[in-house]
Amino acid sequence: MDHILRLKCVICGGEYGADEVLYVCPKHGDEGILDVLYDYDLIATRLTKEGLARNHDYSIWRYAPLLPIAEESPRPPLHIGWTPLYHAQRLAEKLGPRHLYLKDDGRNPTASFKDRASAVGVVKAQELGYQIITAASTGNAASSLAGLAASVGLESIIFVPERAPKAKVAQLLIFGARVMMVKGTYDQAFDLCLEAAREYGWYSRNTAYNPYLSEGKKTAALELCEQLEWEAPDRIFVSVGDGCIIGGLWKGLRDLRALGFIERIPQLVGVQAEGSAPLVRAWEEGTEEIVPLVPDTLADSIAVGNPRDGVKALRAVRESGGQYVAVKDEEIMEAMRLLGREAAIFAEPAGAAGFAGLLKLVREGEIDFEERIAVLVTGSGLKDVDSAIRAVGEPELIEATMDALSRQLTRRSGP
Ligand SMILES: [Zn+2]
Repeated sequence: MDHILRLKCVICGGEYGADEVLYVCPKHGDEGILDVLYDYDLIATRLTKEGLARNHDYSIWRYAPLLPIAEESPRPPLHIGWTPLYHAQRLAEKLGPRHLYLKDDGRNPTASFKDRASAVGVVKAQELGYQIITAASTGNAASSLAGLAASVGLESIIFVPERAPKAKVAQLLIFGARVMMVKGTYDQAFDLCLEAAREYGWYSRNTAYNPYLSEGKKTAALELCEQLEWEAPDRIFVSVGDGCIIGGLWKGLRDLRALGFIERIPQLVGVQAEGSAPLVRAWEEGTEEIVPLVPDTLADSIAVGNPRDGVKALRAVRESGGQYVAVKDEEIMEAMRLLGREAAIFAEPAGAAGFAGLLKLVREGEIDFEERIAVLVTGSGLKDVDSAIRAVGEPELIEATMDALSRQLTRRSGP
């Protein structure tokens, strides 16, 4: 792995060799998240736009020279990444912005964005010779890890909060994970998982702890720009929970600029649910001091009271010249309906939250309709059917007769 220079602590700037530390800055413990520093001159000899244009591997591995894995490491057999980017014309006409792109990451193998990170996590676990890999998750990272672990024959032990949606728990069990359902919040499950990994020597796939996961997440930004023929959009909207996805996108965009693949960096817009918006609060107060809170939102994947990657997430938005936005659960449900009805994308609440943020800024007159806007949809609605039904209402129940049908057809339909 000659393309990795150092690992750098986001708090003190201390640098370490990749073989010196496993997860975090020894001086700063669990808070000392490390960023991977690359040798871009070397990478530029291995990864070029022309090479990519000839590369028929349409998955995250097309960017392997920019990933923290050894060239010879075996990769999971599942198809990760290169998810569709739709030019959402009908939605654009309805809303106003003329160049609206939706990237549907619900199309990954376990139906969420998190597969990008889990794929890298599983490769690292195998490089380091671990048999058991663990994570705490609000749901998607867990089901993703369980799926990726199953694909290569690793054992997975997963910690989820009690309120994780049933479909995600079902995924875990189907993929053969050992599931510890923690009586408490995600934040409590996270702490327990870290302690368990230390105690039992399991490999930790925890976001904002393991430095390599956001490297997997950055592939969404790489793809997005390549799919737009290296003309980066003006703004990217994405939902934010722990902050690791937006931090990863920022990393990917900086990589591309360092390599000269894109000229300017898009503004990142981080969208949180109002009931779980510690980063919006810190943003508005202009501080990196994040005050934890008890989350309350239907968007379980971003129901995070203590964002583990908060500092990176705040800096990503600040340095890109973007902003944070909070949206109400009702606005998230409206976004779910619009995505479904106007673009046929079935998003889970957190998956639709980024789009809800765009809706809000359009209504506030903050969007120039000539801007090129990309919205990341981070997870499939099939993962949380109860919230979907809440957003759209129940079907119309009728007797099996034409009379009953014709009576019903004259009534107004639901939301
Ligand atoms: Zn440090």
